[in-house]
Amino acid sequence: MIAEVIVDIATGATDRIFDYLCADDTVIGSRVRAPFGGRTLCGFVIGTKETSTFPAERLKKVIPCEDGLPALTGECLSLAKKIARRYRVPLASSLRLFLPAEMRTGKVRELTKNYASLCVPFAEIKLPKSAKNQLAVAQYLEAHGETECAYLNNLYAGGVAALEKKGYVNIVKKQVLRNPYDGVEGEDVARTLSPEQAAAIAEIERDDRTVQLLHGVTGSGKTEVYLRLIADSLRRGKSAIFLVPEISLTPQMLSQLRARFGRNAAILHSGLSAGERFDEWWRLRSGEAKIAIGARSAIFAPLENLGVVVMDEEHDSSYHSETSPRYSTFEIARLRAMHSGCKLVLGSATPSVDTFLKAREGEYNLLPMKTRINGKPLPEITIVDMRREVRRGNQSNFSATLKEELAKCLESGNQAILFLNRRGYSQTVVCKECGYVAKCLSCDVSLTYHRAEDCLKCHYCGTKYNALSACPECGGTKLTYAGTGTQRIAAELNKLFPEARILRMDNDTTSGKEGHLKIIKEFGEKKADILVGTQMIAKGHDFPAVTLVGILDADMSLHFADYRSGERTFQLITQVSGRSGRAKEKGKVVLQTYDPENEVLRYATAYDYEGFFDNEVSLRRGAMYPPFSKIVRVLVTSEDSEKAIATLKDVYVALEKIYEAHTSAFLFFNKMSAPIKKIQNKYRYQVLMRIIDTKILQEIYDACAEAGRREVSVTVEENPVNLS
Ligand code: ADP
Ligand code: ZN
Repeated sequence: MIAEVIVDIATGATDRIFDYLCADDTVIGSRVRAPFGGRTLCGFVIGTKETSTFPAERLKKVIPCEDGLPALTGECLSLAKKIARRYRVPLASSLRLFLPAEMRTGKVRELTKNYASLCVPFAEIKLPKSAKNQLAVAQYLEAHGETECAYLNNLYAGGVAALEKKGYVNIVKKQVLRNPYDGVEGEDVARTLSPEQAAAIAEIERDDRTVQLLHGVTGSGKTEVYLRLIADSLRRGKSAIFLVPEISLTPQMLSQLRARFGRNAAILHSGLSAGERFDEWWRLRSGEAKIAIGARSAIFAPLENLGVVVMDEEHDSSYHSETSPRYSTFEIARLRAMHSGCKLVLGSATPSVDTFLKAREGEYNLLPMKTRINGKPLPEITIVDMRREVRRGNQSNFSATLKEELAKCLESGNQAILFLNRRGYSQTVVCKECGYVAKCLSCDVSLTYHRAEDCLKCHYCGTKYNALSACPECGGTKLTYAGTGTQRIAAELNKLFPEARILRMDNDTTSGKEGHLKIIKEFGEKKADILVGTQMIAKGHDFPAVTLVGILDADMSLHFADYRSGERTFQLITQVSGRSGRAKEKGKVVLQTYDPENEVLRYATAYDYEGFFDNEVSLRRGAMYPPFSKIVRVLVTSEDSEKAIATLKDVYVALEKIYEAHTSAFLFFNKMSAPIKKIQNKYRYQVLMRIIDTKILQEIYDACAEAGRREVSVTVEENPVNLS
């Protein structure tokens, strides 16, 4: 038989499909070793056939890998083909999504441990009394049976080895599965569903639309609904995928899942080591675990027979891939749900405008949950006009109202969260005399001062620079630090409330896999009174003692030049506010702004999602912004500026042809350099389009795929999350 084998999956750059001779029982999707130009590469069988057009005497033979099961299921293979077509990427590149790194390179490292057991009954072992450790080991093995050598060596050094030498003990190597989050345990609580939860579950079961949108206010108990749906799938003998935006940030969610589903849940996310990820992946593939939990990449979990797919916080921008292929997690989730004939359940307190519009129009089923589980109203949000504070002579970052509320909160022994949209001690270093702004040498962006390390950092490439004592342009020494970061807030706070224990959570304090877990744990255990942080603290945490949330700069995200800035601001305010008053005591929110009349802030403080939505939709319809059109950006990047420009020209010419042939499909068509002209030494150019007929998308992808050349990357982005 002939196998069609795709090799070079490790780089995914090209489609190299070759014919090989194979055994008759070769299964499609299985991993093989393929001789290739003197080397042996790891490959995957993507098809089989009886004959090849290639001369038979030149065909080489593949060697099957002893995986036990084909790595790729039929569904994965067909989905990978669809993705390759949809985003115009090589099949090798879309197949990569479905395979853990170690599987792709063929270097699967299993974790093995040594185990010792007695080969003769204890009574037959003859040892001098002085061989204490050997005696102890033998006794232990007699009593407990096979035991890990490391454990015994720890207690009785040298005992095992000596016994083995004498032939009393046998040592075997065994594969063990790594178990990430071994220490994360929680207690499962049996809960009676609230009427709203029960109604939502019943409705999801009754309605036969694929996409179900759970629109529930923060604290309405959406998680319990997901868990019930997943448990129900398991009962029906099916599997489930549960997607969350950044699971590594939400240990509470993890411990809940562990408590409810134990080892039936496998966790996939970028914080795991390659080995851990491989083991978790394999547990899913082999059917040992039936629930895949993780960030967007978990949508590619090797599960068959899905019973439900859940996408929590469906509006979150992390569901859009920022690397090729730039897939939409939602699109893939829906394909998988349709393939298995199961439901895709989206959940959010603030659904994206796009999703909610489809729900309103009846394409998705809309399930509202309007009350909090604890029966408490949502926390009251007070808007503070910061312009008035400045007029009154208050130059600090804290309004009088916020200071007062903080004092009250601390006095009553409760906790507070202060949220701001930036990190670092301050934003930029500016010379007061000549206006010089410190910038990164490899990226066209300003640097941020970090006080703890006394250095300047580029937030795009991570490069550190020495702090400046004088302006490098004019030699002036009057340098100011514009803007405010979490570090400065924490420092100011320390002056205002010297007694208060303050924790800071942002990208700088959470390095390492467990950095944020530690901070969250400390705050949860009430080892601090105030938590200062960026976006990170907005995500689904449940701290019962928090009764005050301060939003220091509510307008920050409003002034981005992006049609979604209103939507993002609304989402952020709702999410951060949702951290307040989650348990017995009523919560409060103080929102500071320089733009108190802003409509988005008004809707957000009234928790009026539908009011916001109606207003937003009419604005977008008027301006023909998404979802009434699609923004398409073609980004050309290269370290070689000339090659980038030449490629841009080719791309532009090809796109212009499409534009001329279908002018009515375009609202906007323009080429320009990207807003940030250089990142990590790569020059960036773009063609920006707004289209109203998505049928021409395929032509755009095709044109760009053909215009690519060596050392230049050409990517197509649809409604890009980030237009910098
Ligand atoms: P959401 O995700 O909608 O913001 P959560 O799922 O975090 O809300 O639930 C809010 C709180 O209510 C959590 O502390 C959760 O443990 C609790 N909870 C959820 N459902 C129930 C229930 N049926 N009975 C009692 N407590 C519940
Ligand atoms: Zn940089």
